[in-house]
Amino acid sequence: MDFAFSEEQRQFQDAVRGFARQRLRGRYAQDDRRGSIDPATRREMAEMGLMGLTIPELYGGQGAGAVTTGIAAEELAAADFNAAYLLLIPMLAAEVIATAGEPAQRERLLPPIADGSVLPCFCLTEPEHGSDAAHLSLRAAREESGQGWRLSGEKTSISLGMAADTAIVFARTSDRGARGISAFYASLKDDRVQRSELSDLGSRAIGRAAIHFDGLPVAAQDLIGGEGEGFVRCMQSFEFSRAVIGLMCLACAQAGIEEAMQYARSREAFGKPIGAHQGVAFPLVEAATLMKGARLLCYEALWRRDQGLPHRIEASMAKWWAPKVAVEAAHQALLTLGHAGYSEELPAGQRIRDLIGLEIGDGTAQIAKLVVARELLGREFSP
Ligand SMILES: Cc1cc2nc3c(=O)[nH]c(=O)nc-3n(C[C@H](O)[C@H](O)[C@H](O)COP(=O)(O)OP(=O)(O)OC[C@H]3O[C@@H](n4cnc5c(N)ncnc54)[C@H](O)[C@@H]3O)c2cc1C
Repeated sequence: MDFAFSEEQRQFQDAVRGFARQRLRGRYAQDDRRGSIDPATRREMAEMGLMGLTIPELYGGQGAGAVTTGIAAEELAAADFNAAYLLLIPMLAAEVIATAGEPAQRERLLPPIADGSVLPCFCLTEPEHGSDAAHLSLRAAREESGQGWRLSGEKTSISLGMAADTAIVFARTSDRGARGISAFYASLKDDRVQRSELSDLGSRAIGRAAIHFDGLPVAAQDLIGGEGEGFVRCMQSFEFSRAVIGLMCLACAQAGIEEAMQYARSREAFGKPIGAHQGVAFPLVEAATLMKGARLLCYEALWRRDQGLPHRIEASMAKWWAPKVAVEAAHQALLTLGHAGYSEELPAGQRIRDLIGLEIGDGTAQIAKLVVARELLGREFSP
């Protein structure tokens, strides 16, 4: 068994860490206050190849494997949790095109995502259908001419929904449950698309939006993966992203725990550094232990994906466990900093607000556990 990254992965880690610390760390709180991500972040991430990290080289990306993607997510999130969303969301959209799209669609649609000139979002959730996404109701109706489709209905809770240029939109093309859902690639820059921003607890720099489609035309060539195949094909290829999310969350919390440990070494109470009181040290040790365990689970899921091995169980376990461990660790870090941690001068509170979002986004803990239960107990135990 080998727990080390390859030499190439370590060099990549150093490069992303250097970039994130130098360029992103200072923007984390600023972007939150402004409520938008600094445009330089996307530009600089594109220059580093991070906007198209998993996109095959043939289509302008880096063709990175899952473990390498996890490394990037960790390094970005440790400095600026929200910058890691810029890796994650376009990756989800690109993954749909790369796995389900025809070669001509990949050639046309992937290079602008890889070079950062087009920012896509990922539209699955609807006002009435979140966890049970297979019952979504936004409609794609065929044009009378038979050439193309029209999208009508509402998506909500869409990360980057205000900033995005394009979207992968999952829409119902027939009433055959999950097999009646198709994936479309649509431009959001159209009068028949109305977006409204949600007022959120965290990740304000990324923002979420409700997006209303009022008969938006989509060309036949922008149906991705065949009629009725979008949902089923795409959902399977996403499992690894849950472990990437886990690593994002853990790295953000780890930054908080490291700050708390540093503080515990220097802050004195009752005549000694607070870290010398076991009541302070032990909760930090417990958080560090749980985070290490969760991180290994995430990397096992990603490693399995890179080896072509099944990883649904590990990735789904990571999705419920890692964000929870991260939120609790970030909370502990804040408490260790005492009154200073409660101030907006420090990022401890922002980290908690931001992390909670990914306890829900991309599926809640209960839904991740349902997936694991189905695998461990058997299909008959799923609702
Ligand atoms: C920060 C953030 C970013 C997001 N980004 C996106 C995005 O980019 N694109 C997108 O499409 N969506 C996005 N979402 C939406 C997200 O995927 C959904 O919120 C999530 O899937 C849950 O759906 P819901 O909110 O409708 O909750 P519901 O499905 O209404 O569930 C409500 C509660 O009931 C529980 N529950 C539901 N069914 C069961 C069950 N069978 N057993 C046990 N418990 C159950 C849930 O776990 C939850 O606690 C985002 C959400 C957040 C918070």
